[in-house]
Amino acid sequence: MLIVMMCCGGGDEAQDASEVSAGNGMAAGTSAADTSVMHRLRVRPIGSYSRVFNDVNAEHLAVAREIGIKPIGSLYDAYNLQVPIMRINTCNDFFVEELTHSLPYLVPQATRLLHDIGRSFSDSVIARGGKKYKIRVTSVTRTDHTVAQLRRGGNVNATSESAHRYGTTFDVSYIRFVCCDSSYMVGPQYLRGILAEVLDYYRNEGRCLVKYEVKQGCFHITAR
Ligand SMILES: [Zn+2]
Repeated sequence: MLIVMMCCGGGDEAQDASEVSAGNGMAAGTSAADTSVMHRLRVRPIGSYSRVFNDVNAEHLAVAREIGIKPIGSLYDAYNLQVPIMRINTCNDFFVEELTHSLPYLVPQATRLLHDIGRSFSDSVIARGGKKYKIRVTSVTRTDHTVAQLRRGGNVNATSESAHRYGTTFDVSYIRFVCCDSSYMVGPQYLRGILAEVLDYYRNEGRCLVKYEVKQGCFHITAR
């Protein structure tokens, strides 16, 4: 299991500054005034997220079709699947948001990946001197039914050609994290940086494809 430790050097102020301005990096419920009590953690620069995490939809789809389920109309269809899907619940490794347009089910390979990413993130934050934080899962598996709901809501990404229909793919927020110990709050840009390091590691290990979704404030991740 990975814990991303700091490499030597670590002069990463420039990256931090650019990442803060590059996105809406404020945690939910955090006003600008609160940032004075936010702690900083070291982050290893990995380059522009848009360039590093740029696995295109066609690649996600190809992998999803290979290892995933046959897209389903609703959860009732899941009983007939050849590839099993399992429910994911909020746990020590990650927090699952209340999902409105997807169902919290993944194939075993993607479930393992999500646990590994979540645990590596939490452990890495602690290894850098922070307290326990968890990643937030914002979208999981879409059915015909939830895709139709998304389309009605005007989500242009809700095409029927999404890897989210195969049980292989989930979204993790890079804006909002779950703080388990409010006595030591960390600036969200540092949490995002550590999450990116973790994803870079698993992507390089060949465990996943990752797309940096700027509009949705998440990393779109497909297990492989
Ligand atoms: Zn996604």
